[in-house]
Amino acid sequence: MTAATDVVVVGAGLAGLAAASRLVDAGAEVVVLEARERVGGRTLTLPAADGTPIDHGGQWIGPTQDRIAALAERVGVTTYPTWERGLNTEFHEGRAHRYGSELPDSGDPVSAVELGQAIRELEAMAATVPPEAPWTAAEALSLDSQTVETWLQARVSSERVRTWLREIVRGTVAAEARDVSLLHALFFIRSAGGMAPLLGTAGGAQERRFHQGAQAVSIRLAESLGRRVVLGAPVQQVRHGEHGVEAEAGGRVVAAGRAILAVPPAIAGRIGYRPAMPGWRNQLTQRVPMGSVIKVHAIYEEPFWRRDGLSGFAVNDSGPVTVVYDDCPEDGSPGVLVGFIEGEQARIWARRDRAARRAAVIACLVDFFGERAGRPRELLEHSWADEEYIGGCYTGYFPPGVWTSFGEALREPVGRLHWAGTETATVWTSYMEGAVQSGERAADEVLAAP
Ligand SMILES: Cc1cc2nc3c(=O)[nH]c(=O)nc-3n(C[C@H](O)[C@H](O)[C@H](O)COP(=O)(O)OP(=O)(O)OC[C@H]3O[C@@H](n4cnc5c(N)ncnc54)[C@H](O)[C@@H]3O)c2cc1C
Repeated sequence: MTAATDVVVVGAGLAGLAAASRLVDAGAEVVVLEARERVGGRTLTLPAADGTPIDHGGQWIGPTQDRIAALAERVGVTTYPTWERGLNTEFHEGRAHRYGSELPDSGDPVSAVELGQAIRELEAMAATVPPEAPWTAAEALSLDSQTVETWLQARVSSERVRTWLREIVRGTVAAEARDVSLLHALFFIRSAGGMAPLLGTAGGAQERRFHQGAQAVSIRLAESLGRRVVLGAPVQQVRHGEHGVEAEAGGRVVAAGRAILAVPPAIAGRIGYRPAMPGWRNQLTQRVPMGSVIKVHAIYEEPFWRRDGLSGFAVNDSGPVTVVYDDCPEDGSPGVLVGFIEGEQARIWARRDRAARRAAVIACLVDFFGERAGRPRELLEHSWADEEYIGGCYTGYFPPGVWTSFGEALREPVGRLHWAGTETATVWTSYMEGAVQSGERAADEVLAAP
């Protein structure tokens, strides 16, 4: 079966749907081909046993993330503030320390000072990295020749501070400090507008949640696009030439003037292209791996930790669960804790059986919040590395050498093929905001093309 349209969009995550909506608003016709039987990609909201919407993928938005906020408002998806009253918990060397500040300061002022210095130094370096072209930063080659870990070893003397900063890397890209180029980390910080916006709850990226769940934004956008969105259509080959493109998904072929590929770089590299991609693009897509994360939710009758004066936020220097937040609905019923198993911990624990993982997760929650945390009425988990058409989360990250050798291939169109997806964003890369920015930018490229 062959259909013809102006633009074929590959992928119905937020980037693809934002691109399609912008094109339709401008009067273009689109077909969106989505591999899965659902839209939303890295956002996935499923009901718990009592119907509470649980976000297994992306969930929070915060200040300066104006595009995702506007899109949500447009489709009637509403937000509420993340709970953050009470003391935070740092689980360090087998003990739970409670603290009231934003960054852990549990009785170790020397480390707190060094942490502040390290953050200021990272932010100063990030200010030198142009988010549209990190490879053009004055010190790009030197910054891209080291990992965050080698920088930590050279610049930070306190092992405790290194541990905190490693956890920040896990908490943002779900990889280890040893995996990630320092230049990439600086680009990431710059694209978010600093470390405070990245780390903060109120005032930061974790400020608000969607009442209906984050996937509702994509579901409603797809509803507004109607029959233009085709599910269960994994694109295997894209043929492209001077006069148009053809995307083939199973027996279906969509002919169009142009294509927007709104998938992570590693996943774009699995699609066949005729003619083949230029070498620099082909090699880029071999080099941007996806992070590793298992997201877990423990559901209780009530948020008992609040009565103990605790916020529900915990950070852990071991594993498997490295960070936890209060994730209750706005009315606090039921009590929900969300935990993240990230980076190396996710790589280890994804291979273990479910019962062992469950026991280890519960043991962590008991360590952080006491015995009552050991009796959730439901424990849910989602391992993103198992998703065939996503390959891992939260995002694709750049190891050393990739930005400086291949960065230019990330967004540059190849003939009539345009690239979207949060990894291609210049603001809030890796976040829902970045996905929307990338989709809208790719749509604008197409609309401006001759
Ligand atoms: C556990 C987790 C927590 C997160 N937390 C947050 C958060 O709190 N806040 C935040 O802002 N962000 C968060 N994120 C990141 C956020 O979800 C993503 O940045 C965003 O959803 C990416 O959207 P995208 O459209 O760029 O890509 P995707 O969502 O990956 O969309 C790509 C789509 O393309 C489809 N596809 C792939 N290959 C093909 C093919 N060959 N043919 C057709 N379709 C194909 C996929 O099925 C998918 O639907 C989180 C992500 C995860 C997983």
